[in-house]
Amino acid sequence: MSSQVPTHPSLGRPSVFAVVWHLCTWIGWTIVVLSVMRLAPSDLRAMGEPLAMIAAIVVFSELRPIVMTRLAGNPVSISLAFVFAVMYLWGPYPAVLLYAGSIVLSEILQRKPLWKLLFNVGQYICSLGAAWLVLVVAGVSASATSPHIDLSLRDVWWIVASWIVYHLMNLALVAALSEDEGISWWEDFTDEFWFYTVSTLAVLALSPLIAIVAVAYPYSWTMLPLLLLPLLAVQKAAEMSRHQEHLSLHDPLTGLPNRVLLNDRIEQALARSSRMRGFVVVFFLDLDLFKVVNDSLGHHAGDALLVDVAKRLSSAVRSGDTLARFGGDEFVVMCEDVSEDEVTTLATRITQALRQPFTSDDREVTVTASVGVAVADRSSTPHTLLRDADVAMYRAKERGRNKVVAFDAAMHQQANERLQDAVGLRRALEHDELRVAYQPILDLTTGRTIGMEALARWEDPDRGLVPPGLFIPAAEESGLITAIGQWVLDAALADASRWREDRGLDNVWVAVNISSRQLLSPTLVDEVESSLCAAGVPASALQLEITESAVMNDLEPVVDVLSGLRRLGVSLAVDDFGTGYSSLAYLKRLPVTTLKIDRAFIDGLGGADDAFDRPIVDAIIKMAQSLGLDVIAEGVETQEQLDALRALGGRFAQGFLWARPMAAEQAGLWLRSHSYLGRR
Ligand code: C2E
Ligand code: MG
Ligand code: MG
Repeated sequence: MSSQVPTHPSLGRPSVFAVVWHLCTWIGWTIVVLSVMRLAPSDLRAMGEPLAMIAAIVVFSELRPIVMTRLAGNPVSISLAFVFAVMYLWGPYPAVLLYAGSIVLSEILQRKPLWKLLFNVGQYICSLGAAWLVLVVAGVSASATSPHIDLSLRDVWWIVASWIVYHLMNLALVAALSEDEGISWWEDFTDEFWFYTVSTLAVLALSPLIAIVAVAYPYSWTMLPLLLLPLLAVQKAAEMSRHQEHLSLHDPLTGLPNRVLLNDRIEQALARSSRMRGFVVVFFLDLDLFKVVNDSLGHHAGDALLVDVAKRLSSAVRSGDTLARFGGDEFVVMCEDVSEDEVTTLATRITQALRQPFTSDDREVTVTASVGVAVADRSSTPHTLLRDADVAMYRAKERGRNKVVAFDAAMHQQANERLQDAVGLRRALEHDELRVAYQPILDLTTGRTIGMEALARWEDPDRGLVPPGLFIPAAEESGLITAIGQWVLDAALADASRWREDRGLDNVWVAVNISSRQLLSPTLVDEVESSLCAAGVPASALQLEITESAVMNDLEPVVDVLSGLRRLGVSLAVDDFGTGYSSLAYLKRLPVTTLKIDRAFIDGLGGADDAFDRPIVDAIIKMAQSLGLDVIAEGVETQEQLDALRALGGRFAQGFLWARPMAAEQAGLWLRSHSYLGRR
């Protein structure tokens, strides 16, 4: 009888818990004592071998306790069938003694605390007593001296009724205890009610058969062990369903609870939290640059690393906390009853756990995590709590990774704005509120403009001109980026076509940024081709800019799409080069034509950071040259930067030094005065 009465810190307080505990334990044990007194050794002898066989089976089944349900405190044991059989045959006293004895044995084997042991005996004996009362009322009763085996049909119904009473009584007693514990037993109960009821009834259904076989004719009791088989089958099925349930609630790689279980745990914690002083706190962890590890060391090593991280984190959290794997490299720690001061301590413990480097394939790998923290309030739900922690985690990433950031309402505001943006953006597309601004790209050797980078702008009637940094993320999140990207492409090609009609401008090209989402679309090549056709310009009039991170996420499909675009004749630039997960190996595999050195490196040229930035820019230019790629320097703002760039052999550039992004008409005027033959 593996019983799991929820632990309670003090039995002393006058609560439902204490009242139920005392009543149940006292009544139960009184029945046990009464049974000892009423059962004479001669009675036992009269019951003889059948009883001995049943007792042996009960002891056998208790040696390996079985928990067939998750429901707190409500396990179903196969010995129950034999106990009931004894009750039909010889009345309550031997049944009570056998049952109490087997529970004590089982509880001792499981090292249950004394108060639990006492209560569990009380609980099951009270339930058995209630079942017996049903049989007495119905007149289906036996005594120690006259085994009762000739069951009429009416008796069978009463026997079934006694099972139901036993079952309900058992549930009620445990529920009374759990309720006081703050455990939402009702959910547990409704969750598992049918499974629990069916398991209990399946076990009890064999009890009349056991009774009949036990005393049918001399030595028929030797066949009793055969009846164990169907019970063991029921038990096996229950165990398998347990296992299945475990699988559906845990992450197979790390064995940690998954999202579903985490949600459930947070919900329960929130329900309990009103009775506690402390808060429910959620820590949302995302490993920094895990993709790099995965890509450079391989998925196998990545998986092993995740398992190690899970182990480290498990040892960092307290025993009552929930550590779950939320997704790929995301983990969530949920803590209950946390004081304000403890939040920081817990966050430090979590990040400290990852401080020591990990070993992967004999190599040391350093892993850091960005952590978002959200503290529950009265209105929190698992969904809002996780969402807030996630928003804070993103903020930690934005602030440079390896940081812990607590969620505050302003972030919510911003997250909301992003959502609003998504709504607004849809409207922007419908109401033609998007614009394209153009920034000239120059050939430094001639000083002439050879191309224009198309940069999206949103002319919001309420907010004025919104820069892309504010709406592209929302567009990417909502998926609207595909439509926006397509719109920018068409607009830029239409402008290019107009410009190219002018004499001397027939080689001018436009550079259009495309997001990773577009790049992963299998129809991109066809769409670009039809856009070129619609605008009536050759593919050489277009350069597409992709960002490094977009490329690195998933190389294989991207290489296919890029090759398709190259076959069209479109040139391809890696934007913001040097800020992403730059790897020379990738560059070799990507069919790109151009590198755009990120502004961050140009910034320091000829200035305070010259010693740092110059070698980097130098290396990028040399590398690009040897790979046969063009290099465009982004964000040139000063003459010093330009001089340094020239000295390093940089040929193409764009930046505020020449022009800020401008409207299409101005861009046309600019081209006429600053350009002649294009680059190709
Ligand atoms: P980007 O593609 O790297 O574009 C260059 C950005 O740097 C532009 O910002 C430009 O205004 C700015 N910039 C150029 N020269 C200078 C300079 O000398 N100093 C400084 N401080 N800044 C300079 P913008 O227009 O705000 O665009 C930001 C980013 O938004 C772009 O970075 C690009 O990644 C993204 N973006 C813009 N339009 C689109 C689009 O149509 N689709 C997609 N997917 N992304 C876009
Ligand atoms: Mg760009
Ligand atoms: Mg850039």
